[in-house]
Amino acid sequence: MTPAVVAEDVRKAYGDTAALDGVSLSVDAGEVFALVGPNGAGKTTLVRCLTGTAAPDEGAVRLLGGAPGDANEQRVGLLPQDFSPPDRLSARELVAYYAGLYDGARDPDAVLREVGLDPDAETWYADRSGGEKRRACVAAALVNDPDVLFLDEPTTAVDPAGRRALWRVFEDLAASGTTIVLTTHDMAEAERLADRVALLADGRVAATGTPEELVAEHGGANRLVVETPAASAAVDVPGFDVEATDEGLVVADVSPRDIDEVVAALEDAGVGFDALSWREPTLEDAYLALAGDVEGVGGEAAGASGAAAATPRGEVRR
Ligand code: ADP
Repeated sequence: MTPAVVAEDVRKAYGDTAALDGVSLSVDAGEVFALVGPNGAGKTTLVRCLTGTAAPDEGAVRLLGGAPGDANEQRVGLLPQDFSPPDRLSARELVAYYAGLYDGARDPDAVLREVGLDPDAETWYADRSGGEKRRACVAAALVNDPDVLFLDEPTTAVDPAGRRALWRVFEDLAASGTTIVLTTHDMAEAERLADRVALLADGRVAATGTPEELVAEHGGANRLVVETPAASAAVDVPGFDVEATDEGLVVADVSPRDIDEVVAALEDAGVGFDALSWREPTLEDAYLALAGDVEGVGGEAAGASGAAAATPRGEVRR
């Protein structure tokens, strides 16, 4: 089957800045493909090249089997990061405007309901919350029922419930065969939605794989996080590998069966603690580990919400 989206050794510079420095990737039809990486990694430039809004200096891009500029716009949806509709439009007017650009677009009211907005609300775009604005923009990008949908940080500023509602919308689109190229800083979002993830850093693909592959390869071991009252330096707990991190003391490679043994060892070592939480590695752990390996990638994913939300996790509070 022809891939929906292809980049072959794509290079693009702005003056002395190499925004893309030899990027190759291929997205299969029906796949959800996440692009992650720190600010300035080249994600937006790549999306612009893939959608034909910027031209690569070198290399080749293909969208739906041809040059991006030749792709039937009915079949492509794009939500740019900086999409900024007119202030004095209601969500219905905005989405209806975009629906009017296409033959056979979907019903704007139905799309608005899907993203969790009331189609009858007369509120101007300018008076909506950041999350509602983003949801209205997502609705505008979906209204032509595209075969390939590019979403550049679709859930930025959207509250947790709204974010989950949008995830369900994207999951339904993916289930119906829509190809989705998703740019995100939210590793829980990438882990939940993406079939494959590419980490971009300094204009290059540093790693590609399914979330499971990246976590298995780079995420490290199961861990027990020990929240101590004072920021402790690393302590010596015989038989275990303990590291002092931002999260607290992290005891690596601990199975749930070992927790009692760790607690006893901590008590023997005189280490008091407020709480213990056990978790499996996540995509955020893999991202941060890869970040450590790639100069210029650091801490961007730290603070991405809900990193461990999709993983088995146990917690004990004192
Ligand atoms: P990301 O989306 O990953 O944050 P970008 O693709 O926006 O990365 O940017 C990659 C690099 O290219 C950055 O160093 C950025 O400053 C630079 N860049 C992007 N667009 C332009 C532009 N229009 N003019 C000059 N430099 C740009």
